[in-house]
Amino acid sequence: MCGIIGYLGKENAVFNTIIGMEKLEYRGYDSAGLCYIDNDILHLVKQPGCVADLMNKIDLNANSEICIGHTRWATHGAASKRNAHPHVTKDLRLAIVHNGIIENSESLKKELINKGYEFLSDTDTEVLLYLIYDYFMNNAIGLYDAVKVALKRIVGAYAFILMDKRNNNELICAKNGSPMVIGVQDNKIDYYIASDAYAFPEEIKKIIYVKDGNVIRINNKI
Ligand code: GLU
Repeated sequence: MCGIIGYLGKENAVFNTIIGMEKLEYRGYDSAGLCYIDNDILHLVKQPGCVADLMNKIDLNANSEICIGHTRWATHGAASKRNAHPHVTKDLRLAIVHNGIIENSESLKKELINKGYEFLSDTDTEVLLYLIYDYFMNNAIGLYDAVKVALKRIVGAYAFILMDKRNNNELICAKNGSPMVIGVQDNKIDYYIASDAYAFPEEIKKIIYVKDGNVIRINNKI
């Protein structure tokens, strides 16, 4: 098991995410990381070890309204910094946190390497990321549609959250076989996504249980 969490809203995104990560610690993990957008720059902090150590390395006052975080239980590759999540594309455009196992990642990885993509980790998650990225960049479709097309080729279990640096009003998430819930604040401006509703602040009363096969776009500017 492991944990994923995402926050989109008008509060301090980094703080809300790391507090959620602490609450997910009970699920067990070997590495932790988070990624946020501050002034159009994507910031990534990740490492083996515990959430408390990560907290010492992040700027809790960052001016960010969007953040994704992860507590990893390694299945593909050692518990190392480069295998820790979030994973980001080389151009720092897309970032992903993922819980689960992509069973056909080896064959997809070969295909993506043949197309020229370079992999910086041993994870199945980075394969999922570049598969989505490839459809997104080369097919003139939006990220939501790129996720839907890419997932038709994925065999395995996943719950993931995806963030696009050029769209800091939006998180995209999908689930199949791994747990995922969405928490909606009454104001419909603050949203949480996590492996377990326990990660949400107590005031979040509206909880949506995501179903297998769902791909969801959360946008707080629509
Ligand atoms: N399979 C992914 C990895 O090894 C995700 C593991 C997890 O669920 O934490 O990085």
